[in-house]
Amino acid sequence: MIIDINKFLSSDALSLKINENFVIDDKEFLSRTNLNENIELKGEIFKLRDGISFTGAVIYTFEDECARCLKEFENKIENKFQAAIVPEEDEESDEVQFVIKDRTVIMGEAIKQLIYMSMPMKTLCSKDCKGLCPTCGVNFNYEKCQCENTLTDPRFDKLKDLLKN
Ligand SMILES: [Zn+2]
Ligand SMILES: [Zn+2]
Repeated sequence: MIIDINKFLSSDALSLKINENFVIDDKEFLSRTNLNENIELKGEIFKLRDGISFTGAVIYTFEDECARCLKEFENKIENKFQAAIVPEEDEESDEVQFVIKDRTVIMGEAIKQLIYMSMPMKTLCSKDCKGLCPTCGVNFNYEKCQCENTLTDPRFDKLKDLLKN
């Protein structure tokens, strides 16, 4: 994952729009994260008085599992970030850094780290996912069951209160 910015650096332009598709070719990383290998990077590279920086987002999808109904679904994430483009990585710094070498920005490891750090721990297949019956396990998104569940949705309690008044 590299972007050649030679032309941009030699020009008078102060910013360069980026919209690139990349493939993550690290099999181990892909299988560990269930990441789709095709990712997108979009944003802008800026020349600043004290250096070069990137502002934008990495967009990726991965195979996720709903925390409520356990269905597998493709989760799409757009992670906005800023990065400093530096000749040498500064281990002490905690900002995102892309290394520039021969006027080419090298992003591989930094992008993988960004993706890894931004993957949500718990997601739902949809915000209204009804989940599974705690007694028989049917998926309430598709089916009903005969179980008498005492668990109620707190949103319905509120509704009941409203109706009472
Ligand atoms: Zn779900
Ligand atoms: Zn049930």
